[in-house]
Amino acid sequence: MDRKMSPETRSALEKLADWFRARSIWMLHYCTGCGAVELPPSMTSRFDMERFGIGPMATPRQADVLLITGYLATKTLRRVIYTYEQMQTPKYVIGFGSCTINGGIYYDSYNVITRLDLYLPVDIYIAGCMPRPEAILTAFNKLREMIEKGEANGWKRYEENKEWYRANQLKALNGEVYVTR
Ligand code: SF4
Repeated sequence: MDRKMSPETRSALEKLADWFRARSIWMLHYCTGCGAVELPPSMTSRFDMERFGIGPMATPRQADVLLITGYLATKTLRRVIYTYEQMQTPKYVIGFGSCTINGGIYYDSYNVITRLDLYLPVDIYIAGCMPRPEAILTAFNKLREMIEKGEANGWKRYEENKEWYRANQLKALNGEVYVTR
Protein backbone atom coordinates (compact mmCIF):
# COMPACT_ATOMS: atom_id res chain seq x y z
CA MET A 1 0.00 0.00 0.00
CA ASP A 2 1.14 3.53 -0.76
CA ARG A 3 1.44 4.99 2.74
CA LYS A 4 2.23 8.59 1.68
CA MET A 5 1.05 10.84 -1.06
CA SER A 6 3.82 13.15 -2.26
CA PRO A 7 3.18 16.57 -0.69
CA GLU A 8 4.34 18.12 -4.00
CA THR A 9 1.16 16.91 -5.71
CA ARG A 10 -0.91 19.33 -3.58
CA SER A 11 -2.13 22.53 -5.13
CA ALA A 12 -1.48 25.88 -3.43
CA LEU A 13 -5.11 25.88 -2.30
CA GLU A 14 -4.76 22.42 -0.73
CA LYS A 15 -1.59 23.53 1.06
CA LEU A 16 -3.44 26.52 2.44
CA ALA A 17 -6.37 24.32 3.50
CA ASP A 18 -3.95 21.92 5.25
CA TRP A 19 -2.34 24.88 7.04
CA PHE A 20 -5.74 25.78 8.48
CA ARG A 21 -6.68 22.16 9.18
CA ALA A 22 -3.54 21.67 11.26
CA ARG A 23 -4.63 24.56 13.49
CA SER A 24 -8.22 23.48 14.10
CA ILE A 25 -8.60 19.86 15.10
CA TRP A 26 -11.89 18.53 16.43
CA MET A 27 -11.41 15.26 18.22
CA LEU A 28 -13.92 12.46 18.68
CA HIS A 29 -12.63 10.30 21.50
CA TYR A 30 -14.07 6.83 21.35
CA CYS A 31 -13.26 5.67 24.86
CA THR A 32 -12.89 1.94 24.34
CA GLY A 33 -10.36 1.24 27.11
CA CYS A 34 -8.85 2.32 30.40
CA GLY A 35 -6.28 4.58 28.65
CA ALA A 36 -9.01 7.19 28.24
CA VAL A 37 -8.33 8.24 31.84
CA GLU A 38 -5.28 10.25 30.74
CA LEU A 39 -7.20 12.22 28.14
CA PRO A 40 -9.13 14.64 30.43
CA PRO A 41 -5.90 15.94 32.08
CA SER A 42 -4.63 16.82 28.58
CA MET A 43 -7.56 19.22 28.27
CA THR A 44 -7.13 20.88 31.65
CA SER A 45 -5.19 24.08 32.27
CA ARG A 46 -1.90 22.34 33.09
CA PHE A 47 -1.52 20.77 29.63
CA ASP A 48 -4.15 22.82 27.78
CA MET A 49 -4.43 21.10 24.40
CA GLU A 50 -6.81 23.83 23.25
CA ARG A 51 -3.84 26.21 22.85
CA PHE A 52 -2.93 24.07 19.81
CA GLY A 53 -6.45 24.38 18.41
CA ILE A 54 -7.50 20.91 19.58
CA GLY A 55 -10.92 20.43 21.13
CA PRO A 56 -13.49 17.69 21.79
CA MET A 57 -16.37 17.05 19.39
CA ALA A 58 -19.47 15.03 20.20
CA THR A 59 -20.45 13.83 16.72
CA PRO A 60 -18.55 12.02 13.95
CA ARG A 61 -19.76 14.21 11.11
CA GLN A 62 -18.14 17.29 12.59
CA ALA A 63 -14.97 15.58 13.86
CA ASP A 64 -11.52 15.51 12.21
CA VAL A 65 -9.75 12.96 14.39
CA LEU A 66 -10.99 9.64 15.73
CA LEU A 67 -9.16 8.74 18.90
CA ILE A 68 -9.34 5.04 19.85
CA THR A 69 -8.35 5.06 23.48
CA GLY A 70 -7.28 1.52 24.24
CA TYR A 71 -8.33 -2.06 23.73
CA LEU A 72 -11.03 -2.81 21.25
CA ALA A 73 -13.37 -5.79 21.47
CA THR A 74 -14.66 -7.23 18.19
CA LYS A 75 -18.18 -6.08 19.14
CA THR A 76 -16.95 -2.52 19.61
CA LEU A 77 -14.97 -2.67 16.36
CA ARG A 78 -18.23 -2.67 14.38
CA ARG A 79 -19.33 0.61 16.08
CA VAL A 80 -15.91 2.15 15.56
CA ILE A 81 -16.01 1.34 11.83
CA TYR A 82 -19.52 2.86 11.56
CA THR A 83 -18.26 5.93 13.38
CA TYR A 84 -15.16 6.31 11.18
CA GLU A 85 -17.18 5.94 8.00
CA GLN A 86 -19.58 8.71 9.10
CA MET A 87 -16.72 11.19 9.43
CA GLN A 88 -16.11 13.51 6.54
CA THR A 89 -12.76 13.61 4.74
CA PRO A 90 -10.05 14.56 5.40
CA LYS A 91 -10.09 12.57 8.63
CA TYR A 92 -7.42 11.07 10.83
CA VAL A 93 -7.07 8.19 13.30
CA ILE A 94 -4.95 8.03 16.44
CA GLY A 95 -4.38 4.68 18.14
CA PHE A 96 -3.98 5.44 21.82
CA GLY A 97 -2.12 2.99 24.07
CA SER A 98 -0.26 -0.26 23.55
CA CYS A 99 -3.50 -2.22 23.22
CA THR A 100 -4.11 -0.62 19.82
CA ILE A 101 -0.60 -1.52 18.64
CA ASN A 102 -0.27 -5.17 19.68
CA GLY A 103 -3.16 -5.99 22.02
CA GLY A 104 -1.17 -4.96 25.12
CA ILE A 105 -2.10 -7.06 28.13
CA TYR A 106 -5.02 -8.50 26.13
CA TYR A 107 -2.72 -9.80 23.36
CA ASP A 108 -4.05 -13.37 23.66
CA SER A 109 -7.70 -12.58 24.28
CA TYR A 110 -10.19 -14.36 22.04
CA ASN A 111 -12.24 -11.26 21.33
CA VAL A 112 -9.86 -8.27 21.44
CA ILE A 113 -8.37 -6.67 18.34
CA THR A 114 -4.60 -6.79 18.53
CA ARG A 115 -3.66 -4.50 15.62
CA LEU A 116 -5.93 -1.56 14.93
CA ASP A 117 -4.24 -0.73 11.61
CA LEU A 118 -5.55 -3.95 10.06
CA TYR A 119 -9.06 -2.49 10.29
CA LEU A 120 -8.71 1.28 10.15
CA PRO A 121 -5.96 3.52 8.70
CA VAL A 122 -4.02 4.67 11.75
CA ASP A 123 -2.06 7.91 11.21
CA ILE A 124 -0.34 7.97 14.60
CA TYR A 125 0.09 5.49 17.42
CA ILE A 126 0.77 6.55 21.00
CA ALA A 127 2.63 3.79 22.83
CA GLY A 128 2.29 3.28 26.57
CA CYS A 129 0.00 1.68 29.10
CA MET A 130 -1.36 4.19 29.66
CA PRO A 131 0.19 7.13 27.75
CA ARG A 132 0.81 10.29 29.77
CA PRO A 133 -0.63 13.68 28.70
CA GLU A 134 2.85 14.73 27.48
CA ALA A 135 2.85 11.78 25.05
CA ILE A 136 -0.67 12.66 23.91
CA LEU A 137 0.31 16.25 23.15
CA THR A 138 3.46 15.11 21.36
CA ALA A 139 1.36 12.81 19.17
CA PHE A 140 -1.15 15.55 18.37
CA ASN A 141 1.65 17.95 17.47
CA LYS A 142 3.17 15.29 15.21
CA LEU A 143 -0.23 14.84 13.57
CA ARG A 144 -0.54 18.62 13.07
CA GLU A 145 2.88 18.62 11.42
CA MET A 146 1.86 15.71 9.14
CA ILE A 147 -1.39 17.45 8.18
CA GLU A 148 0.45 20.64 7.31
CA LYS A 149 2.97 18.73 5.16
CA GLY A 150 0.19 16.76 3.44
CA GLU A 151 1.43 13.50 4.97
CA ALA A 152 -1.59 12.48 7.05
CA ASN A 153 -3.15 10.44 4.27
CA GLY A 154 -4.63 7.46 6.11
CA TRP A 155 -8.13 8.34 4.86
CA LYS A 156 -6.91 8.14 1.24
CA ARG A 157 -5.24 4.82 1.98
CA TYR A 158 -8.58 3.58 3.35
CA GLU A 159 -10.44 4.59 0.20
CA GLU A 160 -7.80 3.17 -2.14
CA ASN A 161 -7.57 -0.14 -0.26
CA LYS A 162 -11.18 -0.47 0.86
CA GLU A 163 -11.45 -4.13 -0.18
CA TRP A 164 -8.39 -5.07 1.88
CA TYR A 165 -9.72 -3.27 4.96
CA ARG A 166 -13.22 -4.69 4.45
CA ALA A 167 -11.90 -8.25 4.22
CA ASN A 168 -9.96 -7.80 7.49
CA GLN A 169 -12.97 -6.20 9.19
CA LEU A 170 -15.27 -9.05 8.16
CA LYS A 171 -12.78 -11.65 9.38
CA ALA A 172 -12.60 -9.96 12.79
CA LEU A 173 -16.37 -9.55 13.03
CA ASN A 174 -16.72 -13.24 12.20
CA GLY A 175 -14.45 -14.15 15.09
CA GLU A 176 -11.06 -14.54 13.33
CA VAL A 177 -8.86 -12.31 15.47
CA TYR A 178 -5.24 -11.78 14.45
CA VAL A 179 -3.04 -12.73 17.42
CA THR A 180 0.46 -11.24 17.76
CA ARG A 181 2.06 -13.93 19.93
S1 SF4 B 1 -2.80 0.15 26.83
FE1 SF4 B 1 -3.05 -0.19 29.04
S2 SF4 B 1 -4.23 1.59 29.74
FE2 SF4 B 1 -4.50 1.43 27.53
S3 SF4 B 1 -6.38 0.25 27.25
FE3 SF4 B 1 -4.62 -1.18 27.17
S4 SF4 B 1 -4.46 -1.96 29.27
FE4 SF4 B 1 -5.71 -0.07 29.35
